[in-house]
Amino acid sequence: MGRTAWTITERRPTRQIQVGGVAVGGGAPVTVQSMTTTKTADAEATLTQIYALAAAGADLVRCTCNEEAAAEGLARIVPRSPVPIIADIHFHHEMALAALEAGVQGLRLNPGNLRKAHEIKQVAAEAKDRGVPIRIGVNAGSLHPELYKRFGGATPEALVESARMELAYFAEVGFEDVKISVKASSVPLMIESYRLASETFDHPLHLGVTEAGPPPAGLIKGTAGIATLLAEGIGDTIRYSLTADPVEEARAGRQLLEALGLRERKGLDLIACPSCGRAEIDVIAVASAAQSALENRNLPIQVAVMGCVVNGPGEAREADLGIAAGRKRGHLFIKGKIVRVVPEDEMVEALVAEAEKLVAEGVEARLAAADSGAEAEAEADRMALIDAKGVDANASETKVELIRKKYGGEHDET
Ligand code: SF4
Repeated sequence: MGRTAWTITERRPTRQIQVGGVAVGGGAPVTVQSMTTTKTADAEATLTQIYALAAAGADLVRCTCNEEAAAEGLARIVPRSPVPIIADIHFHHEMALAALEAGVQGLRLNPGNLRKAHEIKQVAAEAKDRGVPIRIGVNAGSLHPELYKRFGGATPEALVESARMELAYFAEVGFEDVKISVKASSVPLMIESYRLASETFDHPLHLGVTEAGPPPAGLIKGTAGIATLLAEGIGDTIRYSLTADPVEEARAGRQLLEALGLRERKGLDLIACPSCGRAEIDVIAVASAAQSALENRNLPIQVAVMGCVVNGPGEAREADLGIAAGRKRGHLFIKGKIVRVVPEDEMVEALVAEAEKLVAEGVEARLAAADSGAEAEAEADRMALIDAKGVDANASETKVELIRKKYGGEHDET
């Protein structure tokens, strides 16, 4: 129960690094990242957000380290954080050194704005001594100006070259504990850049569409880029960049990986039919009532809300649990098998109660506890509805007959 049957098994091989205790690359489960929006100097507020992000599915959390007070904040945050902390560094290499001093488990350097070779090498040497990995975080929007000129813009080749140059500096001090990102706000550019990076490097790749904007467009852009690459086997850790509460980023990342079968289900997966002329209830209202009643209970199951009993239980037979509406009653089903018939106004309540029992007792026990007359009662409702509305609600078969009568016959063109 709770495990997606189909998954993407072919992943491009990468080497593995450790960020704190979290493995990235080399066949490790794809991880979810997000970034705090609080002032890192405010350790309490930042920790509150880190806990919320971890609860929503973040495996790793990044905090900016843009000033000395932020580094001091990190020194207080890291020991109390439930997940490894990565410091985000732009412009000031001393902030990377201060973050390492604070005990962070990872660094992100932007090669577009941290450009002095001796400073880059100093940070890499220090990270090497402390066993802390670095992400080379290339961003199309802040590409090194020389590369921009040389390649005539922020092309995939330019982004990958930026990462390659940074790797070369790291190699000079014998540092290889690296993951790479080549983000862009343009989805096609991002996809092409990561494809090229995947062909060029064997380091783990951190995927993201940068500055994707507020949901839903930001979610769509992020998913278009990240999911396309994951489906090709590219990517070892992901981040949605949304203009929203970062909890939404962590939740989206987790849900995407679960949807692709790349991570085991941790929370609820509510599916619902789109509704149609056959619907016996307001599917949208019942689905959202079920969602809000179930989502905070952390039940790792797939639950279906279906608008009619004629097609609902069959179409959602793969769901762990579901409910379908018909003749003012709800048919509660487990793995497509009807276990109870309840009054319509008790549908959501019955669904929630059964979900909790299902998680506690398991499918077999709950199927064994089914009401004995439920199947027969449900079948009677189903037949009555078919009689009332006809199996063919759209009258397709009648139309097909008509077409055959009018236009059928001998059309042998050989
Ligand atoms: S389950 Fe019933 S109501 Fe929902 S889309 Fe299918 S036929 Fe329509």
